Amino acid sequence: MSYAVGVDIGGTKIHFAVVDEEGTITEQRIVPTGAAQGPEHVMQNVMDGISRLMAGGGVSIDGIGIGSAGQIDCRSGSVSFAVDTLPGWTGMPIKQIVERGFGLPTYVDNDVNVIAIAEKCFGSAKLFDHYVCLALGTGVGGAIVEAGKLLRGSSGGAGELGHLSVDFNGPRCSCGNYGCMELYASGPSIARLAREAGFKGGLQLSSSGEVTAKEVIAGWTEGDALAGKVMDTVIRALAAAIAGLIHAFNPQAVIIGGGVAEAGEPFFAALTEQTEARTSSSMRNDCRIMPASVGANAGVIGAAAQVWPFNTGAFGKRVAL
Ligand SMILES: [Zn+2]
Repeated sequence: MSYAVGVDIGGTKIHFAVVDEEGTITEQRIVPTGAAQGPEHVMQNVMDGISRLMAGGGVSIDGIGIGSAGQIDCRSGSVSFAVDTLPGWTGMPIKQIVERGFGLPTYVDNDVNVIAIAEKCFGSAKLFDHYVCLALGTGVGGAIVEAGKLLRGSSGGAGELGHLSVDFNGPRCSCGNYGCMELYASGPSIARLAREAGFKGGLQLSSSGEVTAKEVIAGWTEGDALAGKVMDTVIRALAAAIAGLIHAFNPQAVIIGGGVAEAGEPFFAALTEQTEARTSSSMRNDCRIMPASVGANAGVIGAAAQVWPFNTGAFGKRVAL
């Protein structure tokens, strides 16, 4: 059995795991990212976390795979453009530092691209060579797989699907455009829409007293009218974007993960109905809208899976470039 270390670097936490080639985690730990203390501190946390896992011993590690938030140049393994949650992360030569520190082959990619790898190797995308992944969480991330290869674009930035506009008269987005999907379908956006609609929540208010996306979804499934109105907006915005993606890429599946997707079956049924109503019949029949199946550990498992060429196949840096 081959083992790899996977690292999933997010804005609030870094997830480390030893993963075997069947996608099973044998050891893991999670530490705060410490983004506010600057990029060198974050990189030190990454190095310390890998060291601790390696020191755990027991198995021999064949390589290190890393998924990071932000735009990643997977050839050099450095950060081309950092997101707001990782200030100063732009330019960080992650691959170079980790390879020098541990002397193991190291692969670095965007955090949603590695989720697409996890779904291909171990999850919902096993049977697909053409699919789109959406991760609905704090933001909305995306990954596009065409003919078994991750679509990267000219500088590694392809797949920023949260910034597809679904309303050119909509609110201004941080990217400069108006009405981006992320403004409707991320967790914080759902909470914002609920506040704007006057949804006060039920009995499950978070400890801060603020309405959360989780509570809006719970209200919706329990039949609350205001929560229903909010989720109708969320689903129509997502459906408009997914219809565009289906027309652009003709995928076999759109695979949706992240906290918002935990809304489950009613969410996927409503989303499928809305998307079908917006997609030409010749293309909609080819495409399934389905939940991601690797789960909350998909980031760290997919990060590790970059190490195995027989798993990564055409995904692998050695092949895909
Ligand atoms: Zn945007």
